[in-house]
Amino acid sequence: MFGFKIYCSILCCSHFDKTMNITAIYPGTFDPVTNGHIDIIARASRIYHKVIVAVAVNSNKSPLFEITQRVDLLQQVTADFENVSIIGFDNLLVDCAKQQGASVILRGLRAISDFEYEFQLAGMNRRLSPDLETMFLTPAEQYEFISSSMIKEIARLGGDVSSFVPEIVQHQLFKKFNRG
Ligand code: ADP
Repeated sequence: MFGFKIYCSILCCSHFDKTMNITAIYPGTFDPVTNGHIDIIARASRIYHKVIVAVAVNSNKSPLFEITQRVDLLQQVTADFENVSIIGFDNLLVDCAKQQGASVILRGLRAISDFEYEFQLAGMNRRLSPDLETMFLTPAEQYEFISSSMIKEIARLGGDVSSFVPEIVQHQLFKKFNRG
């Protein structure tokens, strides 16, 4: 029994060490960053050696915030995480991941509704770059229903978004919708 326990802890340690050396890239629009995104970043920063949050420039979503502002907000709200850095990107994600030395693409999964799109995306990225693994993290329960698009809609209509986004993001949303 004692031997088995040691064997298990060696297995766990070696797995943990391997994971610790991995750089993960967390791509998205982040328009704007929410507490849900931050929850995923915090979890990833405890697992991976380095986490690169990659903000998509050319999103089909016609972002409300300019790329520079989305990057800047992310930099401010992740300043306490030493192994997290923020970049903008305008090329194919798998190429960006390679340039950054990342071997894991990280995505957040909120609900079953996210699954179909995420599954398709992961499959396509695997076809494009078989060595890159997509991994998913789920947020704490209280963040499961938060989406950037919903936050923008609430803010646009004058609702209170203070429990969904950091204060500086709330401030920028107020400014955008002339409510500040
Ligand atoms: P994209 O346009 O790539 O979906 P988003 O900024 O909307 O960009 O989301 C980036 C990633 O973060 C996606 O994997 C998304 O599922 C995840 N995500 C978004 N909101 C949350 C949340 N509240 N909790 C956990 N993950 C989230």
